[in-house]
Amino acid sequence: MSAIEGLLAALPADRVVTDPDVMDQYRHDRALTATAGKPLAVVRAQCVDDVVATLELATATNTPVVTRGAGTGLAGGANAIDGCIVLSTAAMNRILSIDVGQRTATVEPGVLNGDLATAVAERGLWYAPDPSSRAICSIGGNVATNAGGACCVKYGVTGDHVLALKAVLANGTVINTGSSVRKNVAGLDLTKILIGSEGTLAVVVEVTVRLRPAPRPPSTLVAIFPSCEAAGAAVIAIDAVAEFSLVEVMDRTTINAVEDHLTMGLDRSAGALLVVQSDSACAYDDVVAADEVCVALGASYTAATADVTEGAAILHARHSAIPALERSGATLLDDVGVPKPRLAELIAGVEAIATARNLTIATFGHAGDGNLHPTIVYDPADPIAFETAKTAFGEILDVALALGGTITGEHGVGQIKRAWLPSQVGETERALMDGIRRVFDPSGILNPGKAT
Ligand SMILES: Cc1cc2nc3c(=O)[nH]c(=O)nc-3n(C[C@H](O)[C@H](O)[C@H](O)COP(=O)(O)OP(=O)(O)OC[C@H]3O[C@@H](n4cnc5c(N)ncnc54)[C@H](O)[C@@H]3O)c2cc1C
Repeated sequence: MSAIEGLLAALPADRVVTDPDVMDQYRHDRALTATAGKPLAVVRAQCVDDVVATLELATATNTPVVTRGAGTGLAGGANAIDGCIVLSTAAMNRILSIDVGQRTATVEPGVLNGDLATAVAERGLWYAPDPSSRAICSIGGNVATNAGGACCVKYGVTGDHVLALKAVLANGTVINTGSSVRKNVAGLDLTKILIGSEGTLAVVVEVTVRLRPAPRPPSTLVAIFPSCEAAGAAVIAIDAVAEFSLVEVMDRTTINAVEDHLTMGLDRSAGALLVVQSDSACAYDDVVAADEVCVALGASYTAATADVTEGAAILHARHSAIPALERSGATLLDDVGVPKPRLAELIAGVEAIATARNLTIATFGHAGDGNLHPTIVYDPADPIAFETAKTAFGEILDVALALGGTITGEHGVGQIKRAWLPSQVGETERALMDGIRRVFDPSGILNPGKAT
């Protein structure tokens, strides 16, 4: 029996797609530079049994399986491989329970991050991990990439909020990891092993997350610096005055793009702009203290506010970075991290690449975590420009590695960063990763060629 015949026999007919036009929508994520193969079939799973049947069949026929959430990934992790089954968990999108007493929620993997956040907010609770894509990305994808966001500087990434998982192994066996108990140290932490595994170890079919009480309204500081060095020094120095809930940076290229887009009166000659928020019980005192630090370190302009609407307007500038850049061309978003004292060197290294390659590269991101998104703008109609952009993308990874950093702070390795992994992770450590993959997936059918 062929894999397709097997799928059609094992699953209700509406779950299996073989129409090439429909399958085309399941071939790519949002990574522009990643290649995508042609799948044999797409399975739109609606329940755990669908996932089990698909994986049993895939194992029996030795067919590769690419699991797909909402397809918003930026590393090619969900891109199809020739002859694979794309296993979509998007339709498994029920919020199964919200336990206000325990402050936990259990959801299917296709639930969108933003939908979970809204549902728990209605119960006075907060799901903290806040990727900018939260309105369009799924919790299963967030778990598989260990997604981050702006609030991670204080509250941590997705993995810090996952208590338990239900997942299906390549051979169709259902496993349960972790516990909905808020403290649990029994045995090896299989939950943590699955988090960030980018669809290579198992298919996540249920996620129990930790919730928090609703956050207090934040106070906000904006500080403008003549140079990235001064802004970088401020990012370190403000750590000594409070624990901030958001510390974001924009470089000069980003500031100018945003000013072109929004006309907010931003100083086009500035070297860098910081947005800092605190949501502590003394939030305004915190940002005033940060303000003093920024002024002492040479900020040319600062403004602190406890007004939430004003704060949101300031943050809007940072959130507008990508739409502002997209007005000038296609964008290739990188995702690198460095130790915080080296932030200014990272930005300088990116500027040097932009100059050498005659490219626009705007750098912005989560300064408080040392995680930045240098974003290359290029003409999508010009194949040479695209090749140059790809080269610059790789050179940015090299700069981050040379600074003792990482090739990815939150988007994952996927397909597009795999070639750089050996430069970051030692041989023995990679062998351990390969060994773990073999234990979970002995025949190597889960997302081959991705992640490790
Ligand atoms: C505009 C924009 C802004 C973004 N901002 C951020 C940001 O701030 N922070 C951030 O971290 N990311 C960001 N991203 C990237 C992306 O949204 C995240 O990586 C997200 O976690 C991917 O979720 P998804 O549901 O789209 O997963 P997909 O893209 O479908 O898949 C991503 C990976 O997860 C695996 N996977 C998906 N579902 C499952 C499952 N059920 N079981 C096992 N493996 C699975 C896939 O195989 C793949 O390897 C952004 C993307 C866009 C387009």
